[in-house]
Order: sequence, then C-alpha cells, then structure tokens
Amino acid sequence: MNTYDVAVIGSGPGGYVAAIRCAQLGMKTVIIEKYATKGGTCLNVGCIPSKALLDSSHHYEDAIKNFEEHGIDISGEVKVNLKNMMKRKSGVVDQTTKGIDFLMDKNNIESYQGVGSFKDKTHIIITDADGKETEIEAKNTIIATGSKPSSLPFIDIDKERIITSTEALSLKEIPKHLIMIGGGVIGLELGQVYRRLGAEVTVLEYMDRIIPGMDKDQSKELMKAMKKQKAKFMLSHKVKSVERNGDEITVKADDKNGKEVEFKGDYCLVSVGRRPFTDGLNAEKAGVEIKENGKVKVNEKLQTTADNIYAIGDVIEGLMLAHKAEEEGTFVAEVISGQKPHIDYNLIPNVVYTWPEVASVGKNEEQLKEDNIKYNTGKFPMRALGRSRASGDVDGFVKIFSDKETDEVLGVHMVGARVADLIAEAVTAMEFRASAEDIARMSHAHPTYAEAVKEAALAATGDRALHI
Ligand code: FAD
Repeated sequence: MNTYDVAVIGSGPGGYVAAIRCAQLGMKTVIIEKYATKGGTCLNVGCIPSKALLDSSHHYEDAIKNFEEHGIDISGEVKVNLKNMMKRKSGVVDQTTKGIDFLMDKNNIESYQGVGSFKDKTHIIITDADGKETEIEAKNTIIATGSKPSSLPFIDIDKERIITSTEALSLKEIPKHLIMIGGGVIGLELGQVYRRLGAEVTVLEYMDRIIPGMDKDQSKELMKAMKKQKAKFMLSHKVKSVERNGDEITVKADDKNGKEVEFKGDYCLVSVGRRPFTDGLNAEKAGVEIKENGKVKVNEKLQTTADNIYAIGDVIEGLMLAHKAEEEGTFVAEVISGQKPHIDYNLIPNVVYTWPEVASVGKNEEQLKEDNIKYNTGKFPMRALGRSRASGDVDGFVKIFSDKETDEVLGVHMVGARVADLIAEAVTAMEFRASAEDIARMSHAHPTYAEAVKEAALAATGDRALHI
C-alpha cells in the first residue's frame, strides 16, 4: 500500500494549491480527483469558462454597440457564432486544466483519478470509474471537495431547459427568453453573457436587491447599468413553481404584495447558490463531523473533528470563492508542516465580473453601522475620470470608508471598468493598515481608472476630491 504524508481529496483551487504547498514544504503528497480533468469547479465549470464567455460576449457587444462611435465601420452584419464561442471557451478550459497536470508533475505530486472515501482516519479508498478500488495510507488528509449548484425543493433541474450554471456554460443556442432565478454573482454574470448575445433576460430575486452580500450602493449601480443593457429585474419575488411544457418554461412567483405573477421563457437558469459537497466521502468513518448545513466542521486551524484531517474551500464556512480556497490551501499546508500562518478573512476581496465590474474588500456600510463604528465616507464617480471618458466606460464609482478617529481604511467598494483588478490596491493598502490620507498622498498614473481610488481617498479626508 502506498503511504503519504498528505492526501488531498479534490483538485479545485483549494486542493491543488494545498498539494503544491505541501510538496514545496517537503511532504510526500498525493491528490485524488474523481473527474478526468483537474481544477475543480473553478477551472472546469466556474471562474474560467464564465470569464471566457464574458470576454467573448463583451467583444460582440462592443462591436455592435460601440464600434461606430469609436469610428470603426464594420461592413456587413456582425453575427454571433455560438459554436465557435463555446469552442474557444473549451480551449481556454483545456489549456488551464492541463496546466494543473503540469504543476502536479513539476512538484512530484502523485495523482489518482477516482472517488476518495475514508476507510478510517488514516486510510482512503479510491474507486475509479470502472469500480476498481485502490487503498492508500495518509498521515494527514485535506478535504477539498468543494460545492455543487443548489436548487429549490420544488424545482426539477432537467439540465436541458431548466438549468444550473454548469449547463448555462455550454448551451447550444442562444435563449430567446432566459428567466433567471436568483440575482447573485453567478447568475448575473451568465445572464449578462446571454443578454449581450441577444436573449431577453428576466431576473427574479427574492431579496429587495441584487448581489445582496455587497454594499447597497453597488447593488443599485449594477442594476442601473444592467437595466441600461435591457435586462429586467423583478425584486422581492418569491418563486413558487417552475414548469416545463415542451420548449416552454413557466415560472410562477409571488410579487412583493403577495400577488401571483407568471413569466414565460424558453430557458430557466436556477442560480440560488451552491451547497457544500461531501457525497461519497464517508466522513463519519474518519470521525469528521459534518454540520447541519452540510459544511465540514473545522476549528481556527481548519482542522476537522479528526485531528489529522483538515478541510478548506467551498466545503467549509465562508465565502465560496476560488482565492479564499487557495489561501486556505496554503494555510493548511503550512499548519501541517508546523508553521503558524494567518488568514485575514476581512481582506478577501469579493468580485463580480459583469460589466461594469463590481469589487469590494473590508466592511460595507451596513456592517459598519451594525458594528457601531464611526466612519468617514469618500466617493468618486468614474464618469469624472479622463480615462473613463476616453474608453466610454463611465458607469460606477469608488467608495472608501475610513475610521473617523484614526483614518484607517475600513472598506473599499467599487463599480466600474477593470475594478476586479483595481481592488488589489485597496487590499494592499488595508493589509498594511493604510489610512485614507496615505492613499490620498500616493501618486496614481494619469489617465487611469485607479485615479478614482485616490480621488475617493481625498474625498474621505476633508472633502478634497480634485476633479468633481
Ligand atoms: P471545487 O473547485 O468545487 O473543487 C472540488 C473538487 O473536488 C472537484 O473537482 C470535485 O470533483 C472533487 N471531489 C469532490 N468529492 C470528491 C471525492 N470524494 N473524491 C475525489 N474528488 C472529489 N470564484 C471566484 O473566486 N471567482 C470567480 O470568478 C468565480 N466564478 C464562478 C463562476 C461559476 C459559474 C461558478 C459555479 C463558481 C464560480 N466561482 C468563482 C466559485 C469557485 O469556482 C469556487 O469557490 C471554487 O472552485 C472552490 O474551490 P474548492 O477547491 O473548494 O472546490
């Protein structure tokens, strides 16, 4: 029987990063993945394919809406070739997942394809697609089994017309009318892809705003921008039923006054969140407790109720984000090797890759109020930037909250072009516990979107923004 210092179950961003860090620290490491390709949700059916489609559809939208204004004449009709768009997306995914195989080889990490199940706390049985079983021994195990799309109890996901994000990433036609249940990040990104390609898109959201976890101003600004793009939003709508009749989907919901309303479309994307995935793991055989909400129970060292078994990523509490899983992967590898690492969960940025993009780090206004923290606010609109006018991307803002007493930056919230990249400046500043004054005094290249960060910091420190 093969014996390892560490076995990692699951090869998503949590698992493969944990495996690399374990190997870097000199531990004999094995990674177990049930699918043929590594990379988990993120690389196969999440972050990477969704961004590939967002980019392709953005090019198309630019061509049909903005090229003329930029003085670019395209003779003839500009058409979508969905098959080629999907082919490119698959190519990007292939290249990225193959990269993980390369990284495993480079770091001398052994791999098994199959479902990993605990026999006890130091033995794992791996069952491959043909039912063949292999047993290995591991001193330590890292559970990184991720998550799957969740649904509502009365919805029958048929994967053809009533679909999750996984199917939405590989549709063979552009929906005529895509009804989306849920106005969270995953739904909005995919909804925007198909809206750009010509589908009518209606978002039904239970809460009174979209992207509910983020700052209220961001929800409003994104909805305003997406309404300009002709997406429809039905807020405070409680979906009651989803039925398919041939190619027609009927969704019934109660509106905010309790009145039943009906929507008809040809596809329904159910994007109501994701659930932690531990099926087939036999966690109880290893003494690993799963909480009532399905998440693996861990302590502050991300150690489960079995002392040699750790869990990371979507399968434990916290934001379901690839970079959160990665941080935890590194953290656990270092804990196992005897180091004392640290993760500041307050500084994990949250990003929506719609256009305009939305990005946040630290506390939002509601949280500051809840925590009774006195704060200053500085806000600067993207439309006042020369860079935004040059590109035509004028929607959005940067908003900075700083402590009223100490001026320490407590939260930064952005909507606009390229803010997914811009948020890194805010994370860096907050990691070094910068004050708004520190940011206000830094030179920012002109013309850039980043100037909005400086201007918001100037606004937060005595209302000194220069360009508004
Ligand atoms: P996963 O990536 O879910 O990986 C778990 C792996 O474990 C899977 O490969 C699974 O097959 C394997 N596995 C499970 N059980 C077993 C078993 N018993 N034996 C062997 N293998 C097993 N996050 C971002 O940060 N940015 C984004 O832009 C972003 N976009 C997204 C877009 C979409 C459409 C979706 C669905 C998600 C997106 N996410 C994004 C979320 C991100 O994909 C997840 O947070 C991330 O993948 C979680 O990583 P993980 O390692 O915890 O688990």
